[in-house]
Amino acid sequence: MGRGISRAHARINVGSNSIVIVDLGSTNGIFVNGTRVDRANLVAGDTVGLGPEVLLRLDVSDGHFQEVLQDLYEGANLDGLTGVLNRRSFLNRVREEYAAGKRHQLSSCLALLDIDHFKTVNDTYGHPAGDAILVQIAQIFGAALRTEDVLGRYGGEEFIILLRHSDLTGACTVLERIRENVARQAFLVPTPGGDQTISVTVSGGLAELTPGGAGVDVVIQAADQALYEAKRGGRNQVRQGQ
Ligand code: GH3
Ligand code: MG
Ligand code: MG
Repeated sequence: MGRGISRAHARINVGSNSIVIVDLGSTNGIFVNGTRVDRANLVAGDTVGLGPEVLLRLDVSDGHFQEVLQDLYEGANLDGLTGVLNRRSFLNRVREEYAAGKRHQLSSCLALLDIDHFKTVNDTYGHPAGDAILVQIAQIFGAALRTEDVLGRYGGEEFIILLRHSDLTGACTVLERIRENVARQAFLVPTPGGDQTISVTVSGGLAELTPGGAGVDVVIQAADQALYEAKRGGRNQVRQGQ
């Protein structure tokens, strides 16, 4: 990170017709063609100043090069099996959101979801069946979320969700719906004996990320503790942490 650049400094949203840069509440601001802005539309040739030492120039590339960039982006940021954000890029995203939330005094919630007795699923039906469940579960999670929420794969069979600008009550309703959708689903999976449908359940732990609060790492720990309570309480349930 360069001198004068904040940890969460700016975001560039690349749409099909526009490229927009947004200041995430950085200390020293962003300068487009020398003028300080909170947000701005960028066009090819624009310069973006971040701190006293870093000046970027925007170059809009052709389709093939964009495909290569897209592949590089996906390889670095998405989980190869499920297509959701990997742990590192999820955490980067959440830290950005936390910085922006602080600025606008907005709370969000973080949830950890872990598949129950997943080792038994692998042991009973084989690893490819386990993989198929991971893929389908990520789809169920994604379908139950709003577009502004963020889903990531946190570890092996553990997923993490940022429920943006949601309080604990609202987030709990969403998680309960997800839990029910998973419990109700007949998962079609490949096994050595042919395709089979099986059921699984998930447990969830939830904690609130408040602007003046303890920060991302502590809130993830609280969600993890709540998840542990959900497991201890018999699994297939959602608990809230402090
Ligand atoms: P609990 O209800 O307490 O969460 O029990 P569990 O069996 O789900 O937990 P445990 O941590 O004992 O086992 C997790 C299993 O998840 C073991 C590991 O093989 C499996 N797993 C992790 N990543 C993958 C993956 O990418 N594919 C498959 N098929 N299995 C995975
Ligand atoms: Mg598990
Ligand atoms: Mg686990």
